[in-house]
Amino acid sequence: MLKINDNYLKLPGSYLFSTIAKKVQAFTEANPDKKIIRLGIGDVTQPLSPAIITALHGAVDDMSKAETFHGYAPDLGYSFLREAIASNDYAARGCDIAADEIFISDGAKSDSGNIGDIFSVDNKIAVCDPVYPVYVDTNAMAGRTGDYLADQQKWSNVIYMPCTSETNFAPELPKETPDIIYLCFPNNPTGSTITKPELQKWVDYANEKEAVIIYDAAYEAYISEENVPHSIYECDGAKTCAIELRSFSKNAGFTGVRLGFTVIPKALKREGTTLHSLWARRHGTKFNGAPYIVQRAGEAVYSEAGKEQTKQLIAYYMNNAKVILEGLKEAGYTVSGGVNAPYIWLKTPDKMTSWEFFDNLLEKANVVGTPGSGFGPSGEGYFRLTAFGSYENTIAAVERIKKM
Ligand SMILES: *Cc1c(COP(=O)(O)O)cnc(C)c1O
Repeated sequence: MLKINDNYLKLPGSYLFSTIAKKVQAFTEANPDKKIIRLGIGDVTQPLSPAIITALHGAVDDMSKAETFHGYAPDLGYSFLREAIASNDYAARGCDIAADEIFISDGAKSDSGNIGDIFSVDNKIAVCDPVYPVYVDTNAMAGRTGDYLADQQKWSNVIYMPCTSETNFAPELPKETPDIIYLCFPNNPTGSTITKPELQKWVDYANEKEAVIIYDAAYEAYISEENVPHSIYECDGAKTCAIELRSFSKNAGFTGVRLGFTVIPKALKREGTTLHSLWARRHGTKFNGAPYIVQRAGEAVYSEAGKEQTKQLIAYYMNNAKVILEGLKEAGYTVSGGVNAPYIWLKTPDKMTSWEFFDNLLEKANVVGTPGSGFGPSGEGYFRLTAFGSYENTIAAVERIKKM
C-alpha cells in the first residue's frame, strides 16, 4: 500500500499567500466598487525589456529550422549563458568562478528546495528570521525540521537567527552550531543587507564548523551601496563553504519565464566528496532546468542593450521604493529597507499585530501588503510592502496610506 510523505502533514494549515488571497477575495466580494492596489506579493509587473524580447523571438525562429533546432539542453546549461554569467557576474567583480561551476536552472525557488536533496536529513538548518519561507518549508517537507510548534510559530529542529531592529535586521552567529546556514542578502522581506566584513565572519565560521552556507543573492542587482557584497565569493575562503543561488526573476523580470542558476565551486567538499559532483547527479539532470529559448533570453540580459535596459527596469522599481519609503516616513511610520532591495519593511503602528495591520490597510486604504509574521516569528509586528507595482499605483497607494 502506498505511504505518503507525512512530513507534508506537519506543515501549518495555510500558506501565507493563499490566506492573503482569500482575505482579498472576501473583501472584494463585499466591496465590489473599491479598487484594490497590490503591494504584496513579490512578483514583478513590468514587461520584459526589448533586448530580451528580440532574443526570445530569435530563439523561437532557431527552433523552426533543422540546422538551428535545439533539443534537450546540456547538463549544466548552455555554455553561451554560463560563460556570460562567469564573466559578468563573477570575473567582473573579482570572483574566481568558472563557467563549469555554474548550473543553470528554472529558478532560485526550485534550486533552494532541491539543493536539500544532496544533504542528509540529519543536518540541522539555521535560517534568518524573518526570511523567504521556501527554505524552511522545503526542509520541512524533507523531514529536517522536527515538529511545528503552533504556539511559537516555530519548528522544533530549526535554528532561528533573529534579525531585528537591534541588529539592523542582520543575523548574529548562532549559539548552537548548524550544518546548513541559509543567508539571503539583500533580504526578503526586510530589504536589509550586510557588509563584506560581516559576511566574511559567516564564511570563516562556516569553514571552521564545516557547515555549508546557502547564499541566496536573488536581489543582488538592486544593491546601490558600495560596501555591500554582490556575491559571497567576494569573501576569502567562500569557495570551500558556500553555494550561491541567483535568479533572473527580480532583476530582469523573468518570474513567468523562469531562469536562475546555482554556483557550486569544485573546491567545496564534505566527507571527501565534492558537492559539485553530487549536484551534477541532481534529478532530471539534462532534461531539467531551462529551455534553450529561455537561456537565449538570459544571455540577452548580459548584452550591452540588455544590461542598460535591465538597469532601467531596476531603477523604475527602486524609484517606487523611494516613493514608499519617503511617503511612509512622512506619515510617521518606522521604515527600513528599500535602498538595496525592492522591499520596504515597516513596524506596525500602535502595537498592532501583522495581521491586524493587514486588515486595517485593506479596509481603510484598500492596499494589500504582506504580514511580517508570515516570514518567521521575529516578523510579528512588522509588515512588508513591495516596490514591484506600477509607478501610478505606488503613488496612489502611498497617498491612501497617508490618509489612513
Ligand atoms: C523571488 C525570490 C526567489 C525566487 O526566484 P525564482 O528564480 O523566481 O524562483 C528566490 N529567493 C528569494 C529570496 C526571492 O525573493
